[in-house]
This record gives sequence, C-alpha cells and structure tokens, in this order.
Amino acid sequence: MSAVRAFPSRRRGQGPGVLLLFGTRAKTVVVALVTLVCGRHGGPAAHELAKRQTRFTLFFVPLFPVGRARWSTQCTQCGWTTGVSGDEAAQLQSARAA
Ligand SMILES: [Zn+2]
Repeated sequence: MSAVRAFPSRRRGQGPGVLLLFGTRAKTVVVALVTLVCGRHGGPAAHELAKRQTRFTLFFVPLFPVGRARWSTQCTQCGWTTGVSGDEAAQLQSARAA
C-alpha cells in the first residue's frame, strides 16, 4: 500500500492546481470454502464464504474500509447465494479451522 502524501496548497497565481482523484471501490474476496446444506437444492455442498468490503480510494489505491463488510455464502453446485451476518461468518470460519 502506498503512503498518503500531502500536497502543497495552491498559492495565488503560482503553480499548477492540485488534482485529487478519490472515490470508493468494493471488492469481494472468497475467504473460506465450507460444507453446508444448501437452502435451494437441499443437499450438502461446498459453499464459498465471501466478504465484500467497500474501501476509500485515493488515486485508485484502496486506503481504508468504509462501512461494514457484507458476508455471503454461495453454493458451488447451484449458485444459490445467501447473505450472512458477520457473527455467522466468524462461526463458519472457526468451524472450518477446527
Ligand atoms: Zn445448492
């Protein structure tokens, strides 16, 4: 990650203006593969546990998270996607590690 730099302020009649490019970007990362009973097709199947987090970006470089992470599981057999809470996601990850 790159460091945040301080830009010189614009003085009257001197130098170029400062252009700041900033925004947000959401990124989804699969953090675990867990076996669950699917809510749609009804059988046990591997589910991807994914975390979606929006980050503040400066010059397209993600700097820090904005808002809460959103968690979801997706069945690898039928693609059924369900949102889960952060607590449920933590439980799924700890169950997988055990
Ligand atoms: Zn399924």
